Amino acid sequence: MHPSVIEAIGNTPLIRLRRASEETGCEILGKAEFMNPGQSVKDRAGLFIIDDAERKGLLRPGGVVVEGTAGNTGIGLTVVAKARGYRTVIVIPDTQSQEKKDALRLLGAELIEVPAVPYKNPNNYVKVSGRLAEQLAKTDSNGAIWANQFDNIANRDGHIRTTAQEIWTQTNGKVDGFVSAVGTGGTLAGVAAGLREKSRNVKVALADPLGAALYSYYTNGELKAEGSSITEGIGQGRITANLEGFTPDFSYLIPDEEALPIIFDLVQEEGLCLGGSTGINIAGAIRLARELGPGHTIVTVLCDYGTRYQSKLFNPEFLRTKNLPIPEWMDRQPEISV
Ligand code: PMP
Repeated sequence: MHPSVIEAIGNTPLIRLRRASEETGCEILGKAEFMNPGQSVKDRAGLFIIDDAERKGLLRPGGVVVEGTAGNTGIGLTVVAKARGYRTVIVIPDTQSQEKKDALRLLGAELIEVPAVPYKNPNNYVKVSGRLAEQLAKTDSNGAIWANQFDNIANRDGHIRTTAQEIWTQTNGKVDGFVSAVGTGGTLAGVAAGLREKSRNVKVALADPLGAALYSYYTNGELKAEGSSITEGIGQGRITANLEGFTPDFSYLIPDEEALPIIFDLVQEEGLCLGGSTGINIAGAIRLARELGPGHTIVTVLCDYGTRYQSKLFNPEFLRTKNLPIPEWMDRQPEISV
């Protein structure tokens, strides 16, 4: 029994990915972060960021947590904030899925949608949220904090102290590789630090979608991005505070055409319905498995649940507009009628 929803965050199972494992001769295991109460890996960041602010005395009952987010961090923060008696004000780019915006409103976040513009633009969602937090801190008598997930290392600490430890225990220390995409870098750099502390033999790989700049940075030192991806919540263009001091052993650049068929097969063949960033992660895990050879155990992250993208990733009309592969079953009409 958990005293509240907060204690239900973390301790997610590791699930063997059958086809990926069989095709590579490795054990490819997914950390089922979609089983967190807010249905994503970002519940952990939400909890550690709010815990850290409380420890520093920055929040009082009724206080406000402000954040700029692609959605999942906003959901994680709101789950924790509601359970602890805080408000959340969430700034989200209007390009993010309707399902995430609906979930935020349902949970009671005060949602502000802004046009999606690059980070260097002062009207970028992250910068808008920072300014808003500053204003609210002056006017709200209960205090307001900016969660600032990209540069708040309470995010990375959460993964060092929980995700990495769980992976180590769940694999009995037999983990050879870890692979993840990057939004803030909290997951990749945090799990890498936690696992490398346990064993110097663990290989860590970055899986970057097109449109992100880190693959280029870690292979030739240049922050340069090309192309685009329909995945949400990942694809970073700068070295965030959470990434500082981190270097991957391998870096992969994964096109959507490689990642999405994995997601489509998983829902049809393995009963796992997952979001697009998870496709990038698993594609990266398969590449690392090929790099290391058969017999290794590789862990990656199942970041969030697929229903969060029903209107995009699992919608043939949407996929068609992006010229992306549409699995045959997605267009098929039901065969049984009554
Ligand atoms: N996948 C999804 C769906 C996400 O929302 C996020 C976080 N924005 C990530 C992956 C990446 O996690 P992190 O911020 O820890 O790099």
